[in-house]
Order: sequence, then C-alpha cells, then structure tokens
Amino acid sequence: MTGKPSKPSSRKYKKDRTTEVKQTVLPLPKSERQRVELFAEISFKIRQSLQLKEILRTIVTEVQQVLQADRVLIYQVLADGTGTPISESVLPAYPAILGMEFPEEVFPTEYQQLYAKGRVRSVADVRDPSAEVADCLLEFVEQFGVKAKLIVPILHSLSVHPPRKSPPKNAIWGLLIAHQCDRPRKWAEFELELMQQLADQISIALAQGELWGQLEEVVAERTAELQAANSSLQQEIIDRKQVEIALRQSEEQLRLITNALPVLIAYVDDRECYQFNNQAYTDWLGKSLTAIHGSSMREVWGEDCYPRMQPHINNALAGNIVTYENEIQLHDGTTRSVSINYIPHIDNDDRISGFFALTSDISDRKAIERMKDEFISVVSHELRTPLTSLHSALKILVTGRLGVLTKDGQQFLEIADENTERLVRLVNSVLDLQRIESGAVTMEKQACTATELMIQAVDTMQAMAQQQEITLVNQPLDIQLWVDADYIVQALTNLISNAIKFSSPGGNVWLIVQRPEQPPTPPPNGRKSTKSKASKVSKSPSLPIEILFQVRDEGQGIPANKLETIFERFQQVDSSDSRKKGGTGLGLTICRKIIEQHGGKIWVDSTLGVGSTFSFTLPVIDN
Ligand code: ADP
Repeated sequence: MTGKPSKPSSRKYKKDRTTEVKQTVLPLPKSERQRVELFAEISFKIRQSLQLKEILRTIVTEVQQVLQADRVLIYQVLADGTGTPISESVLPAYPAILGMEFPEEVFPTEYQQLYAKGRVRSVADVRDPSAEVADCLLEFVEQFGVKAKLIVPILHSLSVHPPRKSPPKNAIWGLLIAHQCDRPRKWAEFELELMQQLADQISIALAQGELWGQLEEVVAERTAELQAANSSLQQEIIDRKQVEIALRQSEEQLRLITNALPVLIAYVDDRECYQFNNQAYTDWLGKSLTAIHGSSMREVWGEDCYPRMQPHINNALAGNIVTYENEIQLHDGTTRSVSINYIPHIDNDDRISGFFALTSDISDRKAIERMKDEFISVVSHELRTPLTSLHSALKILVTGRLGVLTKDGQQFLEIADENTERLVRLVNSVLDLQRIESGAVTMEKQACTATELMIQAVDTMQAMAQQQEITLVNQPLDIQLWVDADYIVQALTNLISNAIKFSSPGGNVWLIVQRPEQPPTPPPNGRKSTKSKASKVSKSPSLPIEILFQVRDEGQGIPANKLETIFERFQQVDSSDSRKKGGTGLGLTICRKIIEQHGGKIWVDSTLGVGSTFSFTLPVIDN
C-alpha cells in the first residue's frame, strides 16, 4: 500500500477561502450560516444527549445533507487494527456498508499513526495517481462505488478523562468519512473544517460518554456501598432495639420481683453508693428511690446507724461474705431488728466492684426469742430456789445424821440426791446460756497468761479425773491473753470434764496450748474428714494472730455426722448420756458462746474408738 494521507489542514475556518472554494467546487455547499447552525445544533445535541449512538447518527445524517455527499460514515478503529462503520447515512442508490468489517490492510498502522497526529485526507478522485491511493484500498473502496472521499480522524485525546483511566494521548478512535460516488469531487476547505469540528465534537462526546460511564460506575459502587452500610445499620438498629426491649423487660421483671419482696434488696458499689435498691427502701426509710439511687450508705442510713454498719461494709468490700444483725430506725420512728447479708460482687477482672445487700426484718423472731429467754430465765430462777433447798436437805439426809434408813431407803435417797444435783446443773446451765445469749453478761476481759488458766482448769478437774482413774497431762505456755479468765476456765473445765466422762479408766487427757505461725484454717464445709468447726460464716479479712487450745482424749470418739450438731443445744451423741454420764447437752453450746464472745472459733476432730480433740482459738495480745 502506497497511499499517503494529505497534509493536515488548518483547523481555523477562513471566510475568503470558503468563498473561493464555493466558486470552483460543485455542488455548492450550504451557506456558512447553515454550517454554523448545523455545528451549533450538533453541539447542542451532544450536550443534551449522552447516547453516543444517537449523536453519531445525527452527525452522519446532517453531514450527508449539508455536504450533499453520497455517503457519510463513522468508522471505528478496533484494537486489532481492523475496523467497522458504526454509523452511516447513504443515498439509496449506493450500497450500505454499515457493520461491515474492514480488513487491516485497508487501514494499516502507519495510516493510523498519521491520523492520530491529526492529519486529514481529501481525495478528489480516487483514480487520480497523484492521490496515491494504494491499489488494494482502491479496489476495496470501488466495491462501494467510491469516487472521491474526505477523511478526518476522530481522536480520543481530550483531557476530560479522569486520571485513573486516561487512554494514551492522541489515540485514534475512528474516522469521519464522506464519500462521493457519482463522480469525482474536489472537497472544499470549509467542508474539511466542518468535518474536523464535528470529529472534535465526537471526541468530546466520547470523552463525556466515558466519563459518564465511569461516573455511573463510581455512583453505582458508592450506592451499593451505601446500601450495604445502610442495611447493616438498619439491622444494627433492629438488633439494638430488640436488646433494649429485652433488657427493659428483664429489668421490669427484676423490679417487679424485688419490689414484691418484703426485704431490702440493694446493690452497692465500691464507693459505698447505691446503684440499685428495691421499693422496700422507700417504704422503710421514707426516701424516694431517686433520692437513694447514687447516694452513699452514710447519707441513706445517717450517723446513728451507719457507724454500726461500717466495719461490716469494709469486710464485704474486702471480699468476705458478711452476716450480722442490727437495729435500724424506720421513717415512722419504730425500731426494727434486722438480719443483714452482704455478698461481695467480684467482676470479670477479679476486682471487688461492690456488694449485694439483703436486709430482712427479724423483729418478730427477736421478740419471740426475748419472750422465750425471759420465760426460761423466770422459770429457772423460780426453780433454782426450791431446788437449792431440796438439794441441801437431801445432802443432809444422805449423810445419815438425821437418822439411818433401810438399805433400799438409802439407795433411793442417793438416786434422789444425784438427780437433784443434775437438775441443779441443768438449771444453772440454762441460766448461764440464757445470760450469755441475751447479752446480759459482758466478758470482763483482762490480761492473763495461758498457763494460769490451764492450771486453774486442771486443778478444778483433778478430783474428778482421779475418781475416774484418768491422768490429766497439762502442757501450758506463758502466752499473754486478753480474756475473761472465769469464762475461759469454765470452757476449759467443761471440755476436760467431757474428756474424762467419755474416756475409759486408765486413759490420758491432755491439755495443750500452742501459738501457731499461721491461724489454723478450719476445714471447708462438706469435707470427708471428721474435722469440724462451729463458727459463723463471716471471716475476718486480716486474721489476727491466734492461740490454739486443745483438749485431747483417748476416749470413745464421736461419729462424723455428730461433729457439728453436738455444739447445738441439748444435742448428745447418745440420748442416754444425760442419764448415764449426768450431762445436760448444754456444755458445748455454752463453750461455743464463750469462745465466740472472745472472737475465737471452736471445733472438734475425732475418730471413733481412738479419741477426740476439741480445739478453740483465741486472739492474743500482740507483744
Ligand atoms: P453434756 O453435758 O451432755 O456433756 P455437752 O454439750 O458438753 O453436753 O456435750 C454434748 C455431747 O457431745 C455429749 O453428750 C457427748 O455425746 C458428746 N461429747 C462431748 N465431748 C465428748 C468427748 N470428749 N468424747 C466423746 N463425746 C463427747
């Protein structure tokens, strides 16, 4: 192929030259005004329409009419070098070539490069050798009756492309071609100008279309993103609403339940401020829920009551379960006895973030207990006086100083004397216990040594031990104590007396004292060992140093299931013990009360048939 495109023409339209062309070229073009109008109309359509196909169709139709050409077409260059007319306006007398595939030979790469530089080709007669139309091309175009042609490139080079998809500069997109088929034709300069301007408009339309496509793509992407975000947001809102409803319902239910209970229920944070409290608080204290919520315990309970609560609050905030009794005054002026439980709240970080507080009214129970205590006290006192005189009279009669009875008579008298003695012990024990429990007696604590107490207890029990042929082994230590000596000796003698009673003749009973390095840890509940502890659940956060007393025997032992209960009132391993051993079933209860009043604990370890060890602790004076 040897054809060469013609020189690029000036893009600027010149009026004088047009006039000149008009005189020499046939058919005469439409007036310049028409051309300007056409250009304006096409530009307007391009701006109005984003449909490239429509724009191209308008251009070929209008150009064909204005130039009075036989065929005007837009040829698109494809990536592989071939191409195809994608829009065409042709007179019916000539064959349509729309959609026809042009082989690469008719439009080789070198032509493409020249067109890409903006050259135009104006051929007045394809057969004129000076036109240098390659033979193969001539053959190709003559199929469609082409005698003259005008070709301008449509470039893809306008800078409207967004940077990300910018095509190479001056790439050729296609050609705007006019054919004259009935005769050769010399194309006028202004016709070239018009074609070029329209080719530029097509470039703009292409760029616009591409930009629009990209915009649509971006908008579609963003819309999809927004829709996805929106729907997940909507789902989140629905989920949250459902969670809120569920929370509200469960909170309402919790309120309903807690408000229905006749006890104070609260949650207190680690700053001692109420974070939850039920309706009973309002009923009892006459303060509104909002007044209590967020307020400190000191504010709510006032200076009369709060100081009694404070050590227990500290104990709960140190992580201990606390149970205690208290007297509180209600808003109507009445005083109520209450039982209070504090349960520490340990959060996920193992931090004590507060405690749950449960306060129940035990005034009725307390009143009954008081009545019962008073009754026991009165009855015991009333019994004691006649019993004492009865006992003294029997003692005198047993000596025989008032006359000698028959052998049977003497035996009955001795039984009566023994039982009266037991009755006296029982009445005394009941009175003792009642006095300690009611708080009528206070432990009068004073400094003394463990040795003093142990010697006193052993001396008291020596006679009984000898009578039972038991050896008492005392192992005292000089440790300073701050206790009510009489009561501790009473506890010790009680334990030694039991040890003697439940041992066989020839046995040993040890009285031991030791100052452990660490406070002894009583066994946990539900353990398999026979070890037992009879003390309250409450445990001091920082245990003081304690002394440990032990009374150990080699007697009959105590079954595992009785290790706890024998510290309860009137509880005996064998109910006949009270008759056989002269016991009352109150000794250990009194012991426990005495030890607890001193801040200690008491428990027993025992193995049946081997022996028992009763242990109790007492806090010592820190030297
Ligand atoms: P009692 O006056 O009956 O001895 P306690 O309260 O002192 O009352 O003791 C309660 C029961 O505990 C006794 O009846 C006995 O069954 C049992 N018990 C107490 N100490 C011992 C011991 N050292 N060995 C065996 N059993 C004992």
